[in-house]
Amino acid sequence: MDISLSSDFATAVPEMAVSWEAAPVEEPVLLALNEPLAKELGLDPAWLRSDGLSFLVGGRGVAQAYAGHQFGGYSPRLGDGRALLLGELTDADGRLRDLHLKGSGRTPFARGGDGLAAVGPMLREYVVSEAMHALGIPTTRSLAVVATGAVVHREEPLPGAVLARVAASHLRVGSFQYARNTGDPDLLRRLADHAISRHYPGSTYLEMFGQVVAAQASLVAQWMLVGFIHGVMNTDNMTISGETIDYGPCAFMEAYDASTKYSSIDHRGRYAYGNQPMIAQWNLARLAEALLPLFSDDEDKAVALALEVLGTFEEHFERAWIGGVQAKLGVQGDVKPLLTELLTLMHENHVDFTSLFHRLGKAARGDTEPARELFLDLAGIDAWIARWRELGPDGDAMDRVNPVYIPRNHLVEEALSAGSAGDLGPLERLLDAVTSPYGERPGLEYFSAPAPQDFSATYRTFC
Ligand code: AMP
Ligand code: MG
Ligand code: MG
Repeated sequence: MDISLSSDFATAVPEMAVSWEAAPVEEPVLLALNEPLAKELGLDPAWLRSDGLSFLVGGRGVAQAYAGHQFGGYSPRLGDGRALLLGELTDADGRLRDLHLKGSGRTPFARGGDGLAAVGPMLREYVVSEAMHALGIPTTRSLAVVATGAVVHREEPLPGAVLARVAASHLRVGSFQYARNTGDPDLLRRLADHAISRHYPGSTYLEMFGQVVAAQASLVAQWMLVGFIHGVMNTDNMTISGETIDYGPCAFMEAYDASTKYSSIDHRGRYAYGNQPMIAQWNLARLAEALLPLFSDDEDKAVALALEVLGTFEEHFERAWIGGVQAKLGVQGDVKPLLTELLTLMHENHVDFTSLFHRLGKAARGDTEPARELFLDLAGIDAWIARWRELGPDGDAMDRVNPVYIPRNHLVEEALSAGSAGDLGPLERLLDAVTSPYGERPGLEYFSAPAPQDFSATYRTFC
């Protein structure tokens, strides 16, 4: 099969693209292949499983340069330390999609890193990104995970893998920070022109910024609505396209608590569930700083324009969030007081976020017991349900937005451990559940049940 990849990124900003070859893989073993996505890209799944396997782990591409604020501290030079952009592919709908490898060996950006990735984290990215896609949330996609046969040394020796990832692009807030930091106004302009032509055609620079603000506000609202916690919202992990990217120590919230964080490296909870909208806006302020010279030659004027657009984040977020909450509760109108009360009850009673909203669909149809049994404070939830039911919630509509099957943390861990040990059954069953997240299916009770309590109390994620 002949695959023609374009190199628009490398052509637009060669200073930010280091030509590089993936490390050779001696014994590739395919662990997961996304056949629907392969077809969408015009790639033959049968070929990818056989002769095309080498295409999923190797080849020449470019390591992309970017900078970034990591936990608030600025690094002028991060870049793809263990990843490569193989090039862009035109999909069946005529859209340009990046084909990218993660875990493909050290690059000039590797610093102290080994350039490798372990099977577990790459399977995590595969299952969580595909779950996000099934939930209708903009995200990079996972095409395949291939075991390399190499040993990756972390706290313990782990089997190595390469993830083949597909994205609208890999342009990040950090890409603009890098371009700005070089002090070359022409590079910044070419990068912005490239981003506009790929994602926001016809826009001015300021309009592009406004569209990124809107896309990210909507994205983070969608995360919040399903309880997704990204875990490492550094500016190098935030896209210009508005897709979720870089599934590292991410997790779905179990019992509702806005301060929830699972990441072992997020000591202060900077990236906790409830902080995500604020952090997104902080990251967008960093993007604005990088773009300032493109907004106006007059610096004061550029800052005023940037602030005005940045200020639209709240209204975009609020609109997406409130609309989403109305859908989750199956009612129209002013849902804020109702939601605030419900979240307080959920917090006080340690109620599983996903389970409750799903069970409220049944309550809307008159079967309140499944929702009630999640609460100790029965008087509290009974009063709330009574008030809410007076508004006439539509349970069937709720079932179309409140997922039953998400990649619950204990299920993900189980699938990753088994997958790392060579048993892909649990991963395949979990993928089957989470890629059709809405509507209960018989026999899948195991995948909708909340985590055992002793699991949740100590759960931590690692990247
Ligand atoms: P992340 O936190 O995964 O988004 O990565 C932050 C930075 O560290 C990026 O520049 C990555 O390319 C780099 N990086 C992470 N892990 C490795 C590794 N094992 N080898 C080389 N670079 C890495
Ligand atoms: Mg990253
Ligand atoms: Mg990364």
